[in-house]
Amino acid sequence: MHVGVTKETAAGEHRVALVPETIGRLGEGVDVTVEAGAGEAAAYPDEAYREAGATIGDPWSADVVAKVAGPSAGEVKRLRSGQVLIAFLQPLTDVEGVERLATAGVNAFALESIPRITRAQPMDALSSQATVAGYKSALIAADRLPRFLPMLMTAAGTIPPAKVLVLGAGVAGLQAIATARRLGAVVSAFDVRDAVREQVESLGATFLDLGVRGEETEGGYARELTPEQQAAQQAELQARIPQFDAVITTAAIPGRPAPKLITAEATRAMRPGSVIVDLAAETGGNCELTQPGREVVDGGVTIVGITNLPSTMATHASQLLSRNVASLIGLLVRDGELALDWDDEIVAGACVTRRSGVAA
Ligand code: NAD
Repeated sequence: MHVGVTKETAAGEHRVALVPETIGRLGEGVDVTVEAGAGEAAAYPDEAYREAGATIGDPWSADVVAKVAGPSAGEVKRLRSGQVLIAFLQPLTDVEGVERLATAGVNAFALESIPRITRAQPMDALSSQATVAGYKSALIAADRLPRFLPMLMTAAGTIPPAKVLVLGAGVAGLQAIATARRLGAVVSAFDVRDAVREQVESLGATFLDLGVRGEETEGGYARELTPEQQAAQQAELQARIPQFDAVITTAAIPGRPAPKLITAEATRAMRPGSVIVDLAAETGGNCELTQPGREVVDGGVTIVGITNLPSTMATHASQLLSRNVASLIGLLVRDGELALDWDDEIVAGACVTRRSGVAA
């Protein structure tokens, strides 16, 4: 069995799908070829891969190709029918990319599609990367604020703690809450799934009751709010947002544009110097004024729309991702041979294209 690790080519992508530490854990009979420089941007030099037993060379002919971002059209041409590909393939939004893989007959596994069942937790790359993004979002808020986060009692007087609001308390939101709390902020949070109230409170934050309840899907995701509910949420937020120094937004609905929570008017009601960090920028943003990939200042309010935050912490983001990818590979291999068990809920669920076409 042969695993290939590619060097990422997407702009700004610094992560790598497998790090040296994990390579030794792939098991007997699994050979690994790593493209030269694949781990460099994440601070894993070629030498570290060699020491872990990998070969530096062409990864594209391997039985299993592990990547972070979905392959470009040019990269798909390097794949062959029957080969396994593992990456973030954006199966709900990148229709063209999935079709290309189907045409090429690639057995493609999307990290986003791994069912969120207990047995699949070690493979849950969405969670591992959301943890990184949530942590970093709190650091960005702290950095951009022209204020302290903790309360300070100094000879020059007392500084009150900053007030931070986290919207969307999934994996990223909970990590943002925990990080902002560690930095000393007073944190409030809101999510349409009432089930997270207890988790928010257990982190020492206050659950902000906006009077809006959404439904939860079987997979634990939120369902999109009705236009009426969305309007009610925007109005409630507009009234409360000026109390906060920083707002971190993480609200998402899989496969849908990010719900708009903060209108332009609400943003302009915030005090100058306030900060919004919009983790949903990649899918359009939770704030109307967010410009994906950019940081803008509007009326003295800084709105951070940086995308792909996990890539800004590429060493640990890759380490966690690598463990997720290795766990998935472990499920696809038996006795050192590729063995795709389509009766396995995780294998079937994560597969988006099969040699015969697009998977169900
Ligand atoms: P996500 O990134 O899809 O969404 C982030 C959060 O935004 C969610 O909590 C969602 O409820 C919230 N949201 C959506 N619309 C909103 C709105 N209008 N206003 C406020 N908040 C809104 O979600 P996620 O972080 O990937 O996790 C979703 C769920 O999956 C969580 O319950 C999590 O605990 C669960 N989960 C389960 C497992 C497992 O069992 N293996 C693993 C990871 C996550």
